[in-house]
Amino acid sequence: MNFPKINLHCHSNYSDGKNSINEIVAKAVKIGLKYLAITDHFTNSWKSGIIPTLNSTEKIENYLEEISICQNHLRESNKNLLLYKGIEVDLGSSEKFIKHLIDPLKFDIILFEYLETLEGLAYLNNLIDYWERKMSNNNLPIFGLAHFDPSNFIYNGLDRLIQLLKKHNIYFEFNSSYSQFYSRKNEIFFEKLKNHQIPVGIGSDAHHSKQLVLIAEPLYRVKDFGLENNLIRLIELLKKEKGK
Ligand SMILES: [Zn+2]
Repeated sequence: MNFPKINLHCHSNYSDGKNSINEIVAKAVKIGLKYLAITDHFTNSWKSGIIPTLNSTEKIENYLEEISICQNHLRESNKNLLLYKGIEVDLGSSEKFIKHLIDPLKFDIILFEYLETLEGLAYLNNLIDYWERKMSNNNLPIFGLAHFDPSNFIYNGLDRLIQLLKKHNIYFEFNSSYSQFYSRKNEIFFEKLKNHQIPVGIGSDAHHSKQLVLIAEPLYRVKDFGLENNLIRLIELLKKEKGK
């Protein structure tokens, strides 16, 4: 089966990427991507001392505005690319910081990184529960796990993890920068993704527009684990989301 070209994980110079949003979008058009999400970093953990992140309301507003301008431009020029407003939230960030700065209704996709412990599962569950209550489920974004390592949960908490993904329809990302996570050692996890019809996505974690093209290997892994239908589920969500 032929899939459209999808890359739902990249960074612009709003965080630690090299290129502007404009340059990323131009490159994505050039290489024929059908779905692209810009997902710059959001953190106030130790990481915020090392990389620039989306750390103020003003910066986030400018970021979203720049993506909006590109979205309009793509529509007006009839380009085949669908562009999504994303953000990559470090789960080591404080709850207060996340709740204060992120309005989920302004995003199409929210990725979470560093889900590694049972406490992290509870933290993520509480956060999404809070948004669901507050927004009464009103057009919440698509949620996904960025470069998630299943081996952290293989021996402890696997069913709780799967229940969380199911409950909030959180997708699992195949990321070309972390191929070691998609090892056969974690097969039981991938079987559960299949059985529970958890959506799966593709991202290259591009920090340079040259890396946007690195999506063949994750797609190969999706097929290798027999998760094509899970990818189709995500594409259905993307079609509904369309870009805010
Ligand atoms: Zn990233």
